[in-house]
Amino acid sequence: MTARYIYVKGLVQGVGFRPFIFLLAKRVGVHGWVRNTNAGVEIFAEAPGDVLSDFIRRIRKENPPASFIETLYSQKAIPLNSDSFTIIGSETFSDEITNISPDIAVCDDCLNDMEIQPQRHLYPFVNCTHCGPRYSIIRDLPYDRSQTSMDAFTMCATCEAEYGNIEDRRFHTQPVACKSCGPSYELISGDRHWGEDTGMMLKAVNALLVSGKIIAIKGLGGFHLACDAFNENAVRELRARKQRDGKPFAVMFRDIKTLSSYAKMSRYERRALTSWRRPIVILDLNKKWAEAPALYNIHSGLRSVGAILPYMPIHYLLFRYFSGHAIVLTSGNMSSEPIVKDNEEALLQFRDIADAFLIYNRRIIHRTDDSVIRVINNRERIVRRSRGFVPAPVTLSLNVNNIVSFGAELSSGFCVGRNYQAIPGPFIGDLKTLATHDFFEESIRDFLRLFRVNPELLACDLHPGYFSTKLAEKMGPVPLIRVQHHHAHIASCMGEHGLDEKVIGVALDGTGYGEDGKIWGGEFLVCDLADYKRILHFGYIPLPGGDKAVEAPWRTAIAYLYKVFGSSFIDLPLNFLDKIDRSQATLIMHIIDRKLNCPEVSSVGRLFDAVASMINLCVTSTFQAEAPMKLESLVLPGCDLRYSYAIDKTIHVDAMIREIVGDLMNSSNISLIATKFHNTIISIIFDSVIRINKMEKTGKVVLSGGVFQNRYLLEGTERLLRKSGFLVFSQNRLPANDGGIAFGQMVVAAKRRSMKCV
Ligand code: ZN
Ligand code: ZN
Ligand code: FE
Repeated sequence: MTARYIYVKGLVQGVGFRPFIFLLAKRVGVHGWVRNTNAGVEIFAEAPGDVLSDFIRRIRKENPPASFIETLYSQKAIPLNSDSFTIIGSETFSDEITNISPDIAVCDDCLNDMEIQPQRHLYPFVNCTHCGPRYSIIRDLPYDRSQTSMDAFTMCATCEAEYGNIEDRRFHTQPVACKSCGPSYELISGDRHWGEDTGMMLKAVNALLVSGKIIAIKGLGGFHLACDAFNENAVRELRARKQRDGKPFAVMFRDIKTLSSYAKMSRYERRALTSWRRPIVILDLNKKWAEAPALYNIHSGLRSVGAILPYMPIHYLLFRYFSGHAIVLTSGNMSSEPIVKDNEEALLQFRDIADAFLIYNRRIIHRTDDSVIRVINNRERIVRRSRGFVPAPVTLSLNVNNIVSFGAELSSGFCVGRNYQAIPGPFIGDLKTLATHDFFEESIRDFLRLFRVNPELLACDLHPGYFSTKLAEKMGPVPLIRVQHHHAHIASCMGEHGLDEKVIGVALDGTGYGEDGKIWGGEFLVCDLADYKRILHFGYIPLPGGDKAVEAPWRTAIAYLYKVFGSSFIDLPLNFLDKIDRSQATLIMHIIDRKLNCPEVSSVGRLFDAVASMINLCVTSTFQAEAPMKLESLVLPGCDLRYSYAIDKTIHVDAMIREIVGDLMNSSNISLIATKFHNTIISIIFDSVIRINKMEKTGKVVLSGGVFQNRYLLEGTERLLRKSGFLVFSQNRLPANDGGIAFGQMVVAAKRRSMKCV
């Protein structure tokens, strides 16, 4: 007989970890006990040597889907000859316990129960210790039914028995429910109403979808608007009613097999699609469907699809009755407003959008949008971090206790710190409307309470005008650190990779406030976590109309053309100039000459805009990053031609602009121009890094900023730098876009505090 203490750290609380250990111990014949501690889970195990090592191996291998083992180590103990295995202190939760599991996609066992258990036959709220809602229904800690929105439903005797039985899959499953005691769905369409009979209700849902109707469906973290994805009229109608410009719609496919006939998938993409987090994964459509007019209204010409697989029981039920292959499942919100989560609000807000409402009678406590992932260089890159991820912490080697960081403005989010864990808040959206402001404030307050954070140090962007900055200023009286935007991007990437040293940081994005009051976005830094030096940047260009140019890439195109060709560019035979009317171009020249609202920018995002406009691909933009995304979608693989540029104190792209115009006049195909442009940016990054590394030999390059969400660009840059022996780091678990800024600010603040700089 041998005995060991086993210590498991990571996301191991509130995810059914102790029952798992208990059942595993029983199965393999291990005696001892398991308990929660502030640091994680502690196990005392005794058994014959080979059984014990098998037990430890299985803990690592068979752990519950939503749990995450960060470290597991064991040490020898003295055998006590215990005669059973027990869970000790299972009811005591100390104030220190801060882990809340994200929401988890329904598991196979529960889907099976929906077939075989009479009390859960076709019951869309089936869940167990390994699956179901968590964060979205939790009001406060400790995680207990009375602290969730399940408190409105009293467990029946059958559910109670399962809840109390340690051998049952629903032991201590707080949202346990069945037909007779749990929440229920109802379908409302005009005066008609379905609910008592789930089968009838779903048949009605199918009839609505098949006839091209739009349905508002209440999901885990908020409402979705749905329609048949292959019904062109329905999709067009949805876009029109939602006033949703051109932003691509997410599409839920029946299953992975169906999806595979529409889009290409690597095994990494498959893994992301089927993981319990069940994010939207951006996939390239296969050739036939990329060109198909049927899907144009879904992807707006990007030839990709944000695909997602069913994750709630109701999704599976819906597809059981639905005769089509896929449904559009887009966030239920008006442009740039937060996702709607309450029934009353949905019935009101969507009255002119949805033809029917599929709602249920349990409240959503926390809003979450579907998370979005893209696989680049065989690694998952998070684009939008929300359902399935929030509120999972990111563990650091820096103490971030009681630090609160406020992020930037677009794709905003905040972050709260608890000991060595940074806990990023949910995706909020662009902080441009009152409703997003409210959601932002309310979410921060909520996180402070949930995770018992008492702000001692705040961090925000350098931009004085951001709503997030003003909110941070209001929160005082505690010290506030203002972190330069691009330093925050690089620190965000360093933080997630555990880097705490001098690196070369390449931060390319759309907009970030610079120390000189200008708008940065093409930055080469030498930095550590505490501070940075700006070594090199893309040359400044006036941005005519400031923010207005973001929606009108043609303005930036004119700024570049004017700089390179002088006023004679107006006579160039460029098609996009006809689109905007040449008098507008003249006006822009005046604005630039007189420096009227023409902030200077070094932004690479804007350079993408300019090129996309010059080639007449995207002259006005109808959604964020449309121009760069469209430009990327044109790239031809296997071509390594590029344009000229010059680097001295700054990076000059005048020669490239000249050559692009030359290519256009020789009627080169625009895909080739887009490819050469991408190759040029990769080459500029490479040359700049080589140059900087000669002075500051770090050998480590950190890439961040929204521009690196571009697959071709990131893959090409990583490949080239690695070939030359650099260690290259890019973002995986936090967004490279501004959604990662708050985490970066937190890391910088923590580092400075550890050095007693604040
Ligand atoms: Zn389950
Ligand atoms: Zn029940
Ligand atoms: Fe940024």
